[in-house]
Amino acid sequence: MTHNKLKMRSYNYLAIDPFVYISCKEEKCMVLDTRTYKFLEINNPKIISILLNAIDKKNYHIAYIGEGNIEDKEVKGFVQKMVSLGWGKMIIKKEKKRPVQIPPVLRISNDIVNYEKDDTSYLTDIKTYIHELFLFLNNDKCPLDWSPYKESFKQIETLRFENDSYKEMTEEIFMDIVNSLDVLPEKISISGSAVWELSFIDKVIAVLNEKQQSLISYNIKLSDALKLKDLGKVIDFSHSYIRLNIIPTDDLTMLGEWASDDRFFFNFLVDDEMSYNKYISVIEKFKVKKYVFSPVLIEKNNLTFFEKSVFLTHEDIFQEKQTIKQILAKGKFNPSLFGKIYFDETGSFFMNLNNSPIGNIKDAPLYLTIYEQFVVNKKNQWFLTRNDVNPCKNCNFALLCPPISNYELYAKKFNFCKIKEVKNEVGHKL
Ligand code: SF4
Repeated sequence: MTHNKLKMRSYNYLAIDPFVYISCKEEKCMVLDTRTYKFLEINNPKIISILLNAIDKKNYHIAYIGEGNIEDKEVKGFVQKMVSLGWGKMIIKKEKKRPVQIPPVLRISNDIVNYEKDDTSYLTDIKTYIHELFLFLNNDKCPLDWSPYKESFKQIETLRFENDSYKEMTEEIFMDIVNSLDVLPEKISISGSAVWELSFIDKVIAVLNEKQQSLISYNIKLSDALKLKDLGKVIDFSHSYIRLNIIPTDDLTMLGEWASDDRFFFNFLVDDEMSYNKYISVIEKFKVKKYVFSPVLIEKNNLTFFEKSVFLTHEDIFQEKQTIKQILAKGKFNPSLFGKIYFDETGSFFMNLNNSPIGNIKDAPLYLTIYEQFVVNKKNQWFLTRNDVNPCKNCNFALLCPPISNYELYAKKFNFCKIKEVKNEVGHKL
Protein backbone atom coordinates (compact mmCIF):
# COMPACT_ATOMS: atom_id res chain seq x y z
CA MET A 1 0.00 0.00 0.00
CA THR A 2 1.40 3.44 -0.94
CA HIS A 3 1.52 6.37 1.48
CA ASN A 4 -1.09 8.20 -0.66
CA LYS A 5 -3.62 5.44 -0.27
CA LEU A 6 -3.25 5.63 3.54
CA LYS A 7 -3.96 9.37 3.62
CA MET A 8 -7.56 9.87 4.86
CA ARG A 9 -9.81 12.32 3.07
CA SER A 10 -11.04 15.22 5.23
CA TYR A 11 -13.94 17.65 4.77
CA ASN A 12 -13.50 21.29 5.73
CA TYR A 13 -16.28 23.55 6.91
CA LEU A 14 -16.31 27.16 8.03
CA ALA A 15 -19.05 27.63 10.65
CA ILE A 16 -19.92 31.32 10.69
CA ASP A 17 -21.38 32.58 13.95
CA PRO A 18 -25.10 33.50 13.91
CA PHE A 19 -24.41 37.13 14.92
CA VAL A 20 -22.49 37.64 11.65
CA TYR A 21 -24.62 39.11 8.86
CA ILE A 22 -23.67 38.21 5.28
CA SER A 23 -25.01 39.87 2.15
CA CYS A 24 -23.86 39.04 -1.38
CA LYS A 25 -25.00 41.21 -4.28
CA GLU A 26 -23.52 42.04 -7.67
CA GLU A 27 -20.33 40.01 -7.29
CA LYS A 28 -19.53 41.53 -3.92
CA CYS A 29 -20.16 40.30 -0.40
CA MET A 30 -20.28 42.07 2.92
CA VAL A 31 -19.62 40.21 6.15
CA LEU A 32 -20.67 42.24 9.19
CA ASP A 33 -20.24 41.65 12.91
CA THR A 34 -23.57 42.90 14.30
CA ARG A 35 -22.03 43.35 17.77
CA THR A 36 -19.29 45.75 16.71
CA TYR A 37 -20.42 46.76 13.22
CA LYS A 38 -16.97 45.97 11.84
CA PHE A 39 -17.21 44.51 8.40
CA LEU A 40 -15.26 42.91 5.59
CA GLU A 41 -15.94 43.50 1.96
CA ILE A 42 -15.20 40.61 -0.35
CA ASN A 43 -14.57 40.65 -4.09
CA ASN A 44 -12.75 37.32 -4.51
CA PRO A 45 -14.99 34.88 -6.48
CA LYS A 46 -13.81 31.78 -4.54
CA ILE A 47 -14.58 33.40 -1.19
CA ILE A 48 -17.89 34.69 -2.53
CA SER A 49 -18.92 31.15 -3.49
CA ILE A 50 -18.02 29.98 0.04
CA LEU A 51 -20.16 32.73 1.55
CA LEU A 52 -23.04 31.97 -0.81
CA ASN A 53 -22.83 28.38 0.34
CA ALA A 54 -23.01 29.54 3.98
CA ILE A 55 -26.11 31.69 3.47
CA ASP A 56 -27.98 29.04 1.56
CA LYS A 57 -30.95 28.41 3.91
CA LYS A 58 -30.37 24.70 4.23
CA ASN A 59 -26.73 25.18 5.27
CA TYR A 60 -27.35 27.12 8.48
CA HIS A 61 -24.37 29.50 8.14
CA ILE A 62 -21.94 26.63 7.57
CA ALA A 63 -19.90 26.77 4.38
CA TYR A 64 -18.26 23.77 2.81
CA ILE A 65 -14.74 24.55 1.60
CA GLY A 66 -13.82 22.17 -1.18
CA GLU A 67 -10.42 20.50 -1.43
CA GLY A 68 -9.36 22.77 -4.28
CA ASN A 69 -10.13 25.92 -2.30
CA ILE A 70 -8.66 25.07 1.08
CA GLU A 71 -5.11 25.43 -0.23
CA ASP A 72 -5.84 28.73 -2.01
CA LYS A 73 -3.83 31.55 -0.43
CA GLU A 74 -6.66 34.09 -0.36
CA VAL A 75 -9.24 31.61 0.88
CA LYS A 76 -6.86 30.54 3.64
CA GLY A 77 -6.25 34.17 4.59
CA PHE A 78 -10.00 34.83 4.71
CA VAL A 79 -10.71 31.78 6.86
CA GLN A 80 -7.90 32.73 9.26
CA LYS A 81 -9.25 36.26 9.46
CA MET A 82 -12.77 35.01 10.25
CA VAL A 83 -11.39 32.76 12.99
CA SER A 84 -9.10 35.44 14.44
CA LEU A 85 -11.96 37.98 14.51
CA GLY A 86 -14.04 35.45 16.44
CA TRP A 87 -16.63 35.33 13.64
CA GLY A 88 -16.32 31.65 12.83
CA LYS A 89 -14.65 28.28 13.45
CA MET A 90 -13.05 25.73 11.18
CA ILE A 91 -14.54 22.27 11.47
CA ILE A 92 -12.66 19.35 9.89
CA LYS A 93 -14.62 16.14 9.54
CA LYS A 94 -13.73 12.67 8.39
CA GLU A 95 -17.09 12.16 6.65
CA LYS A 96 -19.00 14.51 4.40
CA LYS A 97 -21.90 14.83 6.84
CA ARG A 98 -22.47 18.54 7.47
CA PRO A 99 -22.15 19.92 11.00
CA VAL A 100 -25.21 21.88 12.21
CA GLN A 101 -25.71 25.03 14.21
CA ILE A 102 -28.77 26.97 15.29
CA PRO A 103 -29.48 29.99 13.08
CA PRO A 104 -31.22 33.14 14.39
CA VAL A 105 -34.94 32.50 14.87
CA LEU A 106 -37.47 34.79 13.22
CA ARG A 107 -40.77 33.46 14.43
CA ILE A 108 -43.03 36.43 13.80
CA SER A 109 -41.93 37.08 10.25
CA ASN A 110 -41.97 33.37 9.35
CA ASP A 111 -45.54 33.16 10.60
CA ILE A 112 -46.55 36.23 8.66
CA VAL A 113 -45.19 35.10 5.33
CA ASN A 114 -46.55 31.60 5.67
CA TYR A 115 -50.25 32.45 5.80
CA GLU A 116 -52.20 29.98 3.75
CA LYS A 117 -55.52 30.44 2.08
CA ASP A 118 -58.57 29.38 4.09
CA ASP A 119 -56.75 29.04 7.40
CA THR A 120 -58.62 31.78 9.23
CA SER A 121 -57.16 30.80 12.61
CA TYR A 122 -54.54 33.42 11.74
CA LEU A 123 -57.17 36.12 12.23
CA THR A 124 -56.29 36.17 15.92
CA ASP A 125 -52.70 37.09 15.06
CA ILE A 126 -53.83 39.80 12.68
CA LYS A 127 -55.81 41.49 15.44
CA THR A 128 -52.62 41.91 17.42
CA TYR A 129 -50.59 43.09 14.42
CA ILE A 130 -52.51 46.37 14.11
CA HIS A 131 -50.55 48.56 16.47
CA GLU A 132 -51.31 51.99 15.06
CA LEU A 133 -54.65 53.33 13.89
CA PHE A 134 -55.16 56.64 12.10
CA LEU A 135 -58.63 58.15 11.88
CA PHE A 136 -59.02 61.14 9.58
CA LEU A 137 -62.19 62.70 10.94
CA ASN A 138 -62.38 65.30 8.22
CA ASN A 139 -60.43 66.80 5.40
CA ASP A 140 -60.18 70.44 4.55
CA LYS A 141 -59.47 72.80 1.74
CA CYS A 142 -55.77 73.06 1.23
CA PRO A 143 -54.44 76.50 2.30
CA LEU A 144 -53.67 78.00 -1.09
CA ASP A 145 -50.67 79.88 0.23
CA TRP A 146 -48.97 76.62 1.21
CA SER A 147 -49.91 73.93 -1.26
CA PRO A 148 -47.50 71.20 0.06
CA TYR A 149 -50.10 70.48 2.76
CA LYS A 150 -52.08 68.69 0.08
CA GLU A 151 -49.34 66.10 -0.42
CA SER A 152 -47.99 65.84 3.09
CA PHE A 153 -50.33 63.23 4.57
CA LYS A 154 -49.02 60.54 2.24
CA GLN A 155 -45.50 61.25 3.44
CA ILE A 156 -45.79 62.13 7.12
CA GLU A 157 -49.29 61.05 8.15
CA THR A 158 -50.45 64.55 8.91
CA LEU A 159 -53.86 66.04 8.03
CA ARG A 160 -55.82 65.31 4.87
CA PHE A 161 -56.27 68.41 2.78
CA GLU A 162 -57.81 68.67 -0.63
CA ASN A 163 -58.35 71.63 -2.84
CA ASP A 164 -61.97 71.18 -3.62
CA SER A 165 -64.43 69.70 -1.16
CA TYR A 166 -64.84 69.42 2.59
CA LYS A 167 -65.93 66.03 3.96
CA GLU A 168 -66.63 64.91 7.51
CA MET A 169 -66.82 61.49 9.15
CA THR A 170 -70.21 60.67 10.65
CA GLU A 171 -70.73 59.47 14.21
CA GLU A 172 -72.05 56.18 12.82
CA ILE A 173 -68.85 55.51 10.87
CA PHE A 174 -66.70 56.50 13.86
CA MET A 175 -68.56 54.03 16.10
CA ASP A 176 -68.42 51.29 13.43
CA ILE A 177 -64.64 51.65 13.36
CA VAL A 178 -64.30 51.64 17.15
CA ASN A 179 -66.62 48.62 17.45
CA SER A 180 -64.70 46.70 14.77
CA LEU A 181 -61.61 46.56 16.98
CA ASP A 182 -61.37 43.52 19.23
CA VAL A 183 -57.83 44.39 20.31
CA LEU A 184 -56.82 47.96 21.03
CA PRO A 185 -53.88 49.29 18.99
CA GLU A 186 -51.00 50.76 21.00
CA LYS A 187 -51.48 54.13 19.32
CA ILE A 188 -54.55 55.88 17.98
CA SER A 189 -54.19 59.09 16.05
CA ILE A 190 -57.21 61.34 15.51
CA SER A 191 -56.52 63.70 12.64
CA GLY A 192 -58.51 66.56 11.28
CA SER A 193 -58.23 70.16 10.24
CA ALA A 194 -61.23 71.34 12.25
CA VAL A 195 -61.95 68.44 14.59
CA TRP A 196 -63.26 70.61 17.41
CA GLU A 197 -66.12 71.71 15.17
CA LEU A 198 -67.37 68.19 14.58
CA SER A 199 -70.90 67.75 15.92
CA PHE A 200 -69.93 64.56 17.80
CA ILE A 201 -66.47 65.57 19.05
CA ASP A 202 -67.61 65.20 22.70
CA LYS A 203 -68.47 61.57 21.97
CA VAL A 204 -65.08 61.00 20.27
CA ILE A 205 -63.24 62.36 23.31
CA ALA A 206 -65.42 60.37 25.73
CA VAL A 207 -64.80 57.12 23.82
CA LEU A 208 -61.06 57.73 23.58
CA ASN A 209 -60.76 58.74 27.24
CA GLU A 210 -61.88 55.21 28.08
CA LYS A 211 -59.21 53.57 25.91
CA GLN A 212 -56.55 53.82 28.58
CA GLN A 213 -54.32 51.12 27.02
CA SER A 214 -53.71 53.23 23.92
CA LEU A 215 -51.71 56.39 23.46
CA ILE A 216 -54.03 58.90 21.81
CA SER A 217 -52.80 61.81 19.74
CA TYR A 218 -55.06 64.57 18.49
CA ASN A 219 -53.43 65.62 15.26
CA ILE A 220 -54.61 69.16 14.48
CA LYS A 221 -53.46 72.36 12.77
CA LEU A 222 -52.16 75.36 14.68
CA SER A 223 -55.14 77.62 14.08
CA ASP A 224 -57.43 74.89 15.39
CA ALA A 225 -55.62 74.88 18.73
CA LEU A 226 -57.34 78.14 19.70
CA LYS A 227 -60.65 76.31 19.73
CA LEU A 228 -59.28 73.68 22.08
CA LYS A 229 -59.76 75.86 25.20
CA ASP A 230 -62.92 74.20 26.55
CA LEU A 231 -62.27 70.73 25.16
CA GLY A 232 -58.84 70.69 26.81
CA LYS A 233 -60.64 70.33 30.13
CA VAL A 234 -62.37 67.10 29.10
CA ILE A 235 -59.51 65.32 27.30
CA ASP A 236 -57.76 62.83 29.56
CA PHE A 237 -54.14 63.89 29.12
CA SER A 238 -52.77 61.02 31.20
CA HIS A 239 -52.65 59.01 27.94
CA SER A 240 -53.29 61.68 25.29
CA TYR A 241 -51.47 64.60 23.76
CA ILE A 242 -52.07 67.20 21.08
CA ARG A 243 -49.88 67.16 18.00
CA LEU A 244 -49.87 70.60 16.43
CA ASN A 245 -49.03 70.63 12.74
CA ILE A 246 -47.41 73.89 11.78
CA ILE A 247 -46.87 75.24 8.26
CA PRO A 248 -44.60 78.15 7.27
CA THR A 249 -47.54 80.48 6.52
CA ASP A 250 -49.05 80.06 10.03
CA ASP A 251 -48.99 82.92 12.48
CA LEU A 252 -46.07 81.61 14.53
CA THR A 253 -46.53 84.18 17.31
CA MET A 254 -49.40 81.92 18.46
CA LEU A 255 -46.85 79.35 19.52
CA GLY A 256 -45.83 81.32 22.60
CA GLU A 257 -49.02 80.31 24.37
CA TRP A 258 -48.29 76.56 24.22
CA ALA A 259 -44.51 76.36 23.75
CA SER A 260 -43.75 74.91 27.18
CA ASP A 261 -47.05 73.11 27.68
CA ASP A 262 -46.40 69.36 28.13
CA ARG A 263 -49.69 68.46 26.48
CA PHE A 264 -48.42 69.71 23.12
CA PHE A 265 -46.04 68.23 20.60
CA PHE A 266 -45.07 70.50 17.70
CA ASN A 267 -44.72 69.10 14.21
CA PHE A 268 -43.01 71.67 11.97
CA LEU A 269 -43.69 70.93 8.30
CA VAL A 270 -40.75 72.19 6.32
CA ASP A 271 -40.20 72.41 2.57
CA ASP A 272 -37.11 74.61 2.22
CA GLU A 273 -34.22 76.23 4.03
CA MET A 274 -36.16 79.46 4.56
CA SER A 275 -39.04 77.83 6.41
CA TYR A 276 -36.54 75.82 8.46
CA ASN A 277 -34.74 79.00 9.57
CA LYS A 278 -38.03 80.71 10.36
CA TYR A 279 -38.99 77.84 12.66
CA ILE A 280 -35.60 77.78 14.35
CA SER A 281 -35.96 81.41 15.36
CA VAL A 282 -39.42 80.88 16.96
CA ILE A 283 -38.30 77.67 18.65
CA GLU A 284 -35.48 79.62 20.29
CA LYS A 285 -37.62 82.65 21.04
CA PHE A 286 -40.44 80.72 22.74
CA LYS A 287 -38.25 77.89 24.06
CA VAL A 288 -40.45 75.24 22.44
CA LYS A 289 -40.02 72.03 24.44
CA LYS A 290 -41.22 69.09 22.35
CA TYR A 291 -40.96 69.29 18.59
CA VAL A 292 -39.92 67.60 15.38
CA PHE A 293 -39.21 68.80 11.84
CA SER A 294 -41.04 66.95 9.11
CA PRO A 295 -39.69 67.67 5.62
CA VAL A 296 -42.32 67.60 2.89
CA LEU A 297 -41.42 66.63 -0.65
CA ILE A 298 -43.12 68.74 -3.30
CA GLU A 299 -42.92 66.46 -6.29
CA LYS A 300 -39.38 67.10 -7.58
CA ASN A 301 -39.33 70.84 -6.87
CA ASN A 302 -37.45 70.80 -3.58
CA LEU A 303 -35.30 67.73 -4.11
CA THR A 304 -32.10 69.64 -3.34
CA PHE A 305 -33.36 70.66 0.09
CA PHE A 306 -34.71 67.19 0.59
CA GLU A 307 -31.38 65.61 -0.28
CA LYS A 308 -29.72 67.70 2.37
CA SER A 309 -32.23 66.97 5.10
CA VAL A 310 -33.45 63.42 4.52
CA PHE A 311 -31.01 61.47 2.34
CA LEU A 312 -29.06 58.72 4.09
CA THR A 313 -25.31 58.80 4.43
CA HIS A 314 -22.91 55.99 5.37
CA GLU A 315 -22.85 57.39 8.89
CA ASP A 316 -26.65 57.22 9.17
CA ILE A 317 -26.65 53.56 8.14
CA PHE A 318 -23.94 52.57 10.57
CA GLN A 319 -24.96 54.84 13.42
CA GLU A 320 -27.57 52.60 14.95
CA LYS A 321 -26.43 49.06 15.65
CA GLN A 322 -29.11 46.51 14.88
CA THR A 323 -29.20 42.92 16.05
CA ILE A 324 -29.04 40.11 13.50
CA LYS A 325 -32.76 39.45 14.09
CA GLN A 326 -33.67 43.07 13.42
CA ILE A 327 -31.64 43.02 10.20
CA LEU A 328 -33.09 39.74 8.93
CA ALA A 329 -36.63 40.76 9.85
CA LYS A 330 -36.26 43.69 7.45
CA GLY A 331 -35.93 41.15 4.66
CA LYS A 332 -39.34 39.67 5.49
CA PHE A 333 -41.55 42.67 6.19
CA ASN A 334 -41.38 46.44 6.54
CA PRO A 335 -41.16 47.27 10.27
CA SER A 336 -42.00 50.94 9.79
CA LEU A 337 -45.12 50.42 7.65
CA PHE A 338 -46.31 47.11 9.09
CA GLY A 339 -49.34 47.17 11.38
CA LYS A 340 -50.67 50.62 10.50
CA ILE A 341 -54.28 51.07 9.39
CA TYR A 342 -55.74 54.35 8.16
CA PHE A 343 -59.43 55.29 7.93
CA ASP A 344 -60.57 58.27 5.89
CA GLU A 345 -63.71 60.27 6.64
CA THR A 346 -65.86 58.00 4.46
CA GLY A 347 -64.88 54.84 6.40
CA SER A 348 -62.56 53.53 3.68
CA PHE A 349 -59.48 51.89 5.13
CA PHE A 350 -55.94 51.61 3.82
CA MET A 351 -52.85 49.58 4.72
CA ASN A 352 -50.85 52.53 3.37
CA LEU A 353 -51.91 55.98 2.26
CA ASN A 354 -49.89 55.72 -0.93
CA ASN A 355 -52.11 52.90 -2.06
CA SER A 356 -55.84 52.48 -2.76
CA PRO A 357 -58.20 51.56 0.10
CA ILE A 358 -58.63 47.84 0.73
CA GLY A 359 -62.23 48.15 1.94
CA ASN A 360 -64.85 50.28 3.63
CA ILE A 361 -66.02 49.64 7.18
CA LYS A 362 -69.66 49.77 6.01
CA ASP A 363 -69.32 46.60 3.97
CA ALA A 364 -65.91 44.97 4.63
CA PRO A 365 -64.98 43.35 7.96
CA LEU A 366 -61.67 44.91 9.06
CA TYR A 367 -59.66 41.85 10.16
CA LEU A 368 -60.90 39.54 7.41
CA THR A 369 -60.07 42.11 4.74
CA ILE A 370 -56.52 42.50 6.07
CA TYR A 371 -56.15 38.72 6.25
CA GLU A 372 -57.18 38.46 2.59
CA GLN A 373 -54.48 40.97 1.74
CA PHE A 374 -51.93 38.78 3.52
CA VAL A 375 -52.96 35.75 1.53
CA VAL A 376 -53.52 37.22 -1.91
CA ASN A 377 -51.13 40.14 -1.95
CA LYS A 378 -48.01 39.34 0.03
CA LYS A 379 -46.20 42.19 -1.61
CA ASN A 380 -48.43 44.93 -0.28
CA GLN A 381 -46.60 47.72 1.49
CA TRP A 382 -46.54 46.04 4.90
CA PHE A 383 -44.20 43.50 3.30
CA LEU A 384 -42.28 45.76 0.96
CA THR A 385 -38.56 45.44 1.68
CA ARG A 386 -35.49 46.91 0.01
CA ASN A 387 -34.79 43.50 -1.47
CA ASP A 388 -37.93 44.01 -3.61
CA VAL A 389 -37.05 47.33 -5.23
CA ASN A 390 -34.42 48.79 -7.52
CA PRO A 391 -31.68 49.81 -6.98
CA CYS A 392 -31.63 48.64 -3.34
CA LYS A 393 -32.09 44.97 -4.27
CA ASN A 394 -28.55 45.06 -5.71
CA CYS A 395 -26.98 46.81 -2.74
CA ASN A 396 -25.38 45.02 0.20
CA PHE A 397 -26.74 47.67 2.58
CA ALA A 398 -30.36 46.79 1.71
CA LEU A 399 -31.23 45.33 5.10
CA LEU A 400 -29.01 47.68 7.07
CA CYS A 401 -30.73 50.79 5.72
CA PRO A 402 -33.94 51.96 7.36
CA PRO A 403 -37.00 50.24 5.86
CA ILE A 404 -38.66 51.82 2.81
CA SER A 405 -40.43 54.97 3.95
CA ASN A 406 -43.62 56.72 2.93
CA TYR A 407 -41.46 59.40 1.30
CA GLU A 408 -40.05 56.80 -1.05
CA LEU A 409 -43.46 55.30 -1.78
CA TYR A 410 -44.82 58.76 -2.49
CA ALA A 411 -41.93 59.67 -4.81
CA LYS A 412 -41.71 56.15 -6.29
CA LYS A 413 -37.95 56.41 -5.84
CA PHE A 414 -36.23 53.96 -3.55
CA ASN A 415 -32.75 55.18 -2.90
CA PHE A 416 -32.94 58.32 -0.84
CA CYS A 417 -29.27 57.96 -0.07
CA LYS A 418 -25.93 59.50 -0.91
CA ILE A 419 -24.30 56.13 -1.40
CA LYS A 420 -22.98 55.72 -4.87
CA GLU A 421 -20.00 53.58 -4.19
CA VAL A 422 -18.75 51.80 -1.11
CA LYS A 423 -15.17 52.77 -0.44
CA ASN A 424 -13.71 50.99 2.50
CA GLU A 425 -10.84 48.71 3.22
CA VAL A 426 -11.20 45.13 4.26
CA GLY A 427 -11.58 44.86 8.02
CA HIS A 428 -12.32 48.50 8.60
CA LYS A 429 -15.44 50.00 10.01
CA LEU A 430 -16.94 52.74 7.85
S1 SF4 B 1 -29.18 51.98 -2.62
FE1 SF4 B 1 -30.86 51.48 -1.22
S2 SF4 B 1 -30.01 49.86 0.07
FE2 SF4 B 1 -28.26 50.84 -0.92
S3 SF4 B 1 -27.60 52.39 0.53
FE3 SF4 B 1 -29.05 53.40 -0.89
S4 SF4 B 1 -31.05 53.24 0.16
FE4 SF4 B 1 -29.67 51.78 1.14
